[in-house]
Amino acid sequence: MNVHASRLALGSIAAAAALSVAACSTSPDAGGGSSDASDAAAKSGGAPIPVVAAENFWGSIASQLGGDHVKVTSIIDNPAADPHDYEPTAADARAVAGARLTLVNGVGYDSWAGKLLAAQPGQGRTDLNVGKLVGVPANGNPHRWYSPDDVHQVIERITADYKKLDPADSADFDRLKSTFENTTLAPYDKEIAGIKAAYKGTPVGASESIFAPLAQGLGLDLRTPESFLDAISEGTDPTAKDKSTIDRQIADKQIKAYVYNSQNATPDVRAQVKAAKAAGIPVATVTETLTPAGASFQEWQVRQLKGIEAALAEGTGKGTGSKGKGE
Ligand SMILES: [Zn+2]
Repeated sequence: MNVHASRLALGSIAAAAALSVAACSTSPDAGGGSSDASDAAAKSGGAPIPVVAAENFWGSIASQLGGDHVKVTSIIDNPAADPHDYEPTAADARAVAGARLTLVNGVGYDSWAGKLLAAQPGQGRTDLNVGKLVGVPANGNPHRWYSPDDVHQVIERITADYKKLDPADSADFDRLKSTFENTTLAPYDKEIAGIKAAYKGTPVGASESIFAPLAQGLGLDLRTPESFLDAISEGTDPTAKDKSTIDRQIADKQIKAYVYNSQNATPDVRAQVKAAKAAGIPVATVTETLTPAGASFQEWQVRQLKGIEAALAEGTGKGTGSKGKGE
């Protein structure tokens, strides 16, 4: 899926990789010898640590936690590219070969990235696999960036890895993490807590498994059959039984809101969106990767959360408070 879009994204990846190499030559530390100059400089706090993230949602977080001390390249950075079935290029391989920290989602989501790491073993590189870190089994739900708890676990580990790779800048990494968690990401945590407080236990429907970790984080009761959520997420055919279950949930208004991935709206999903709207069930959207492409993790997530909150407010008739209804 979306092969053309994936290829289109490659030019910018190659450019970013070239930039990251150029950026490493500004170190004031001249004592390290030429071939290992960037390595020695990174240890002394001079040149940025080259970091490669398989997906831009993790890359955005890694970049904000590292500040000037890191140079992050995200391989999947185009909203039109599908991380589930991306095919890496020579430029991606070069970026990985030069990385000192890699950040991969895992859980079968980006097996192309695992192969890339194996083919480019690197030297003294740290590989962070999110699925392994948070303990999700190989057949589990891979969309860990939609789990607020997992996001916070990844933040802790990224900062710990940065401090190991660049101990001279440890105090700065602690400060960057504190600012990120207490200020930058605070609206995200606040939005989640607010939705949970107001709508805990509310029955909702969704198009695919990407929404399941967030529904859990928000305390919502996701009624859509898991086999349907997985089928849409994995690009396989959902069963007729699941589809009729969902049609009934919509027709009987058993769900108060319907959330779908607008980057993966199959004909079945589009039919459900249409049916939900016709039944007066508010619809909200999420996307697989950062949207628009230049958005930060928190800008993207907060905007989506506000959309979900508005749908819940309308669907439950609790639409009071500072936001008001609609629009
Ligand atoms: Zn997905």
